[in-house]
Amino acid sequence: MTTSVLVVGAGPTGLTLACDLARRGVLVRLVERSATHATGSRAKGVQPRSLEVFDDLGIVDDVLAAGERRPRFRRLRGAQVLGEHEGCPERPPAPGVPYGCMLLVPQWAVERILRERLASLGVRVELGTTLTNFHQDADGVSATLVHDAGTEDLRVSYLVGCDGGRSTVRKTLGIPFVGETRETEQASIGDVRVDGLVRDAWHMWLDPERGVGVMLCPLPGTDAWQFQGAAEPSEPTTSDAASAMGTYAPPTLETLQRLFDQHAGMPTVRLHDATWLSTYRVNVRMAERFRDGRVFLAGDAAHVHSIAGGLGMNGGIQDAYNLGWKLALVLHGAAAPTLLDSYEAERLPIAAWALAVSSERQRVVLAAARAMSGAVDAGLTGDTTQLGLHYRWSALAGAASGGADSTITDRVLQPGDRAPDARCRSLGGGEARLFDVFRGPHFTLLGFGARTVAHVSAIAAAHGAHVRACVVLGDGERCEVRPMSALVDARGEAAACYGASEGCFILVRPDGYVAAIDRDGEPRKVRRWLREL
Ligand SMILES: Cc1cc2nc3c(=O)[nH]c(=O)nc-3n(C[C@H](O)[C@H](O)[C@H](O)COP(=O)(O)OP(=O)(O)OC[C@H]3O[C@@H](n4cnc5c(N)ncnc54)[C@H](O)[C@@H]3O)c2cc1C
Repeated sequence: MTTSVLVVGAGPTGLTLACDLARRGVLVRLVERSATHATGSRAKGVQPRSLEVFDDLGIVDDVLAAGERRPRFRRLRGAQVLGEHEGCPERPPAPGVPYGCMLLVPQWAVERILRERLASLGVRVELGTTLTNFHQDADGVSATLVHDAGTEDLRVSYLVGCDGGRSTVRKTLGIPFVGETRETEQASIGDVRVDGLVRDAWHMWLDPERGVGVMLCPLPGTDAWQFQGAAEPSEPTTSDAASAMGTYAPPTLETLQRLFDQHAGMPTVRLHDATWLSTYRVNVRMAERFRDGRVFLAGDAAHVHSIAGGLGMNGGIQDAYNLGWKLALVLHGAAAPTLLDSYEAERLPIAAWALAVSSERQRVVLAAARAMSGAVDAGLTGDTTQLGLHYRWSALAGAASGGADSTITDRVLQPGDRAPDARCRSLGGGEARLFDVFRGPHFTLLGFGARTVAHVSAIAAAHGAHVRACVVLGDGERCEVRPMSALVDARGEAAACYGASEGCFILVRPDGYVAAIDRDGEPRKVRRWLREL
């Protein structure tokens, strides 16, 4: 058996992509330079849109169980509590939005769950395996891997660099990583155990001059805390000329304790047993291109930015989710290779948006901290949920040219928009959601009203396993012909979320964005979209 796709780097981006490809029957290998799995908490915020991706991959319950849904943020000066609030008050899922809040969960836990899912699909992460070089021609990519057993030459159809900010893949392609390194914006971080503090909130010691002095966040599922403290600017230990992203010496436990004492002034609180220590430096950079022929960049390899707003890991997960179905359809011969052009066209503007928003949120966080009114929490707003991101400008949505804005101003659902969820009922009367129908590697065709049955059946029959058809019936509506799949929109949520009335057809892409809409009883645009694919 030959490998079709080589994924380089087993962070959240590479793991998500490998899972998505493997469940679509693509032969994939996932190589990781490190000899062991990463243990540092790093990203702790999984945004609602990424939770939807995990829902589709079948792991959302595990991720939710590993996290904290209602993190509390506490502002302090010394031992004095200035105020506190819940980052996201628990509320029932809104129509269209099953996961409304960012979930607090350490990155290593997300990676573990993704690895388990990948293993269930028969793929394991190949640890201690480094991509050292590759070249491509019209038919494929020849890659060189180095591992314990020596050097291995591998021929694949596609290669995806999910190999982080200092990406070997990006540098081998010679793609510039344009942007800046903010030398003065850095923090000493680590995972430590803490005595003398109650684990009931994300503690933030604020400073009217420096902004955020020190933060301690209890990591769900462990008795450890992530420490983050304003560090003195330091020099890189190795410079990285190609990307200007240097490597910085990690702090010691003693450094963290000193920073804590200095900013928090609580001598009874002691840090110990550090399991991960690092210096975090703000880099705001983007690859000029996300693709070169048969080679793609995703996640931090393609874009890095401030952690304010919690968009980094989430952006990588969503890059992978955008690319997976496209690669699979092309490899299975079910779509023209030109479909792959839409990866960069759709994800590069989103990355540019993330760079701009996170830089702006960084300023907001620091200003709020100086005003003693908030910190991390001030960076999280409706747009950082990433639920409003869309691809309306994409050629796949029928648009002629690019350009992205971040949020939907026109509320009427259009091609390119995220396909919302809706709570419905099965024909048997049980609870069922639209996301239950979307879950899996297929496109979904929704037909609203019994009179759409003939059309959706015909389209589904013509496209086999690629398209799952579902008729959405009104409350009390009956069907003469039994459709292959049907939901009853008893609350009217589906009709409201999709702005749909009887005779409306909606084609939803495998990654949960609307491909085509017909509102006049004839699925002409849907048929054309599928034909052109
Ligand atoms: C303190 C901190 C807090 C953060 N908070 C958030 C947050 O709240 N929300 C958020 O969304 N993001 C956050 N981030 C950012 C997030 O951690 C990154 O965006 C995320 O790790 C990127 O994932 P990735 O898979 O693209 O890359 P990485 O996680 O960097 O993984 C790349 C992998 O590739 C491997 N690799 C590299 N080169 C090779 C090679 N040649 N061959 C084989 N393997 C290779 C590396 O060993 C690594 O394991 C935070 C980061 C930090 C440091």
